[in-house]
Amino acid sequence: MDLESLVRKNIRQLKPYSCARDEFQGKASVYLDANESPYNQPYNRYPDPHQIKLKEKLSDLKEVPVDGIFVGNGSDEAIDLLYRIFCEPEVDNVVAIEPTYGMYKVCADINNVAYRTAPLNEDFDIDAYRIMDVTNQNTKIIWLCSPNNPTGNFLKVAEIIKLLKWFRGLVVVDEAYIDFAEKESMTRFLPIFSNLVVLQTFSKAWASAGVRMGMAFASSEIIDLFNKVKYPYNVNILSQQYVLDMIEKREEVTDWVSRTISERSKFMRVLKKVSVVKEVYPSDANFILVKMDDANYVYNELVERGVVVRNRSNIVLCDDCLRITVGSREENAEFLKELSQIR
Ligand SMILES: *Cc1c(COP(=O)(O)O)cnc(C)c1O
Repeated sequence: MDLESLVRKNIRQLKPYSCARDEFQGKASVYLDANESPYNQPYNRYPDPHQIKLKEKLSDLKEVPVDGIFVGNGSDEAIDLLYRIFCEPEVDNVVAIEPTYGMYKVCADINNVAYRTAPLNEDFDIDAYRIMDVTNQNTKIIWLCSPNNPTGNFLKVAEIIKLLKWFRGLVVVDEAYIDFAEKESMTRFLPIFSNLVVLQTFSKAWASAGVRMGMAFASSEIIDLFNKVKYPYNVNILSQQYVLDMIEKREEVTDWVSRTISERSKFMRVLKKVSVVKEVYPSDANFILVKMDDANYVYNELVERGVVVRNRSNIVLCDDCLRITVGSREENAEFLKELSQIR
């Protein structure tokens, strides 16, 4: 892959904003360079624009070099930046599997970039040939999501590897749900494939959706481009400190994940016995895709009973499907009680 030719011309030529913290990086006793207030410490100071302390911790945790990490305001920031860095509006296109997470298309539309789709197989897995078939010389990104939202399955690694070998643009693998999968992250392939970008988030397994913290892992050359284009202070000090604290508590997070995984199998076993349920698909995530006899009817009945799930029934390959998040034991029991009363 030739990264240089993949990047939009205006971004290649961009001279990034140089903030006070970029121009002086040593230790000083008096800081009068950023027009900050001397009052209300520590909130008076701008945050570290490169989030070094946080990235050092993440580097240990994820076994990825510090200069191969981007952190942003949710994964959504990384998704949007990938369009802004690589996709020329009205010229370039991206290819995504279908069905998948809705943000890839919304960001394509916002950035005025054509969005092409390659349907998943009947078993919700990918076929590298089928995806390559949809690409052309203007395709910059292939969007994969593994485990995929809303189908819940972990995608075949061998097929992803084929795409990494064949495709001359970026292959992005969104691993928002990887911690629930009991499978290895694609980050282990980062040293081998320079066109791989892996996305992860603190929103799901880390139980911190309200904090808005996402990560991208890629080559240092790609991360340099993220750094060039992102807002200088894209992650505030409260969020940086919060995530540092969460990393210290990671054993508790591991415990939450195992509880969710064991609740998931129990939840699936019971769901299979409910009369309005037609099929329960396997899940490597913290949600379960379920085919109903009549999803719209079941969805409305559940809402009437104060229970809300995601209606995915109008989505390709998901006819009559509801996506149900695995909650606490009590929430799941309440859901199953209401569902079993629907006739
Ligand atoms: C929930 C989810 C995310 C998380 O996005 P954040 O902006 O980090 O909250 C990313 N990708 C997929 C596929 C998701 O389902």
